[in-house]
Parts: sequence; C-alpha cells; structure tokens
Amino acid sequence: MIAALVLAAVLASPTPAATPTSVDVVIGAGHEGRPASCARFPHRQCNLGAAGELAWTPIVADAATLILRAHGISVARLPADFEGNYAVGAAAFVHFDGNDKPCSTGASIGYHHPEDAWAAANWRTLYARYFPFRFMPDNFTRNLSDYYGFRQVRARSGALVVELGEIDCSAQKKWLEPRLHWEGALLAYFLATQIGRADVPDPGVFK
Ligand SMILES: [Zn+2]
Repeated sequence: MIAALVLAAVLASPTPAATPTSVDVVIGAGHEGRPASCARFPHRQCNLGAAGELAWTPIVADAATLILRAHGISVARLPADFEGNYAVGAAAFVHFDGNDKPCSTGASIGYHHPEDAWAAANWRTLYARYFPFRFMPDNFTRNLSDYYGFRQVRARSGALVVELGEIDCSAQKKWLEPRLHWEGALLAYFLATQIGRADVPDPGVFK
C-alpha cells in the first residue's frame, strides 16, 4: 500500500528538474520544429536559421542517428526546442551558417565548456580533411559559445554546435547539397569515436 502511494507520488510529481535522461549521444537538428515550438519557450529567440537550413539539418541529424542506432548506440534525436536535461557521452547540434554577405564564413564549431576544446579539435581535424572552404575560429559568435542547447545537455566527451558550412554561399551550398547523408555518416563516425566506439566506419571521401 505504502509502496503504491510512493509510486503514485513519483508518477504524479512534475519533473522539470528531474534526473537527466541518460543516453550515449544527443543529436539536435538546428531550428527543427520551429516556429511551432517557440510558443513553449517565450524567453528564447525564435531563430529560424538561414534560408534552406531548416530543410537540411534534419537530413544530416537523421542520417547520423540511423547509423549510430544500427550500431547499438543510444541516441536522443532532438529538435530545436526540447524539454528536460540530458547526461550523455557526446552531443552535436547540427547547423548551417548564413550570412548577409555571402561567402564571408564557412564551417565553424561552438562549445561552452573549455574542456570540450579537444572534441572541437577532433571534429575540425576530421571535417577539414574534406571540407574545401574556410573554417572560422571556434566560438566566433556568442550564438556558438552560448548556444541555448548547452544548458540542457551535459556531455562527458564533448557537446558541440557544428556549423557544417555557409548555406548562403553558393559554392559551399553546391558542395554540401549532395553530401547531406555523407555529412551524417561523418558525424556518426565522429560521435562514436568520441565515446570510445571504434566500430562505426569513417565514410571516407564522398562518392
Ligand atoms: Zn542554424
């Protein structure tokens, strides 16, 4: 009887600050679910991203998720706005940059915790092997270093915003467009490596 009452109390209790959800990896698709989800987070800027970005981020995020799950790695695949907190091995929030002056940026990385610099360096080394355009300095905007998603995710081996290129730059867009699934495969390989899993293959050069 007491056990039943305790259970009922646990089930009924509101859980905004509850135990974080524990998964191997978080993958967020930038801007996904907006603007519909913005009403639930009125204090947050309802950033819809660069033109075309919202169509691309879920493709990359889904491709990466599919590969990781096929290898038995648990993934919380999140949209732009989500509830609760996560305790994970590694996290990546997928974005493409935009700019009023096309081709003035490129790929970039954001992280909030200094101890995640090594994860950023790992991604940069990997992606720069293939990405033929410029790489901006890490955290070159406040949106990168103070990305709102970092507040809800604690990652043991790196939580990053990965801007995969500048979508407003036609040369970069043209390079990226056929590679969205490949980008997902590269991200899956990176995240798996971060958490010590060597069984997810590096997709290598896009074919
Ligand atoms: Zn974005």
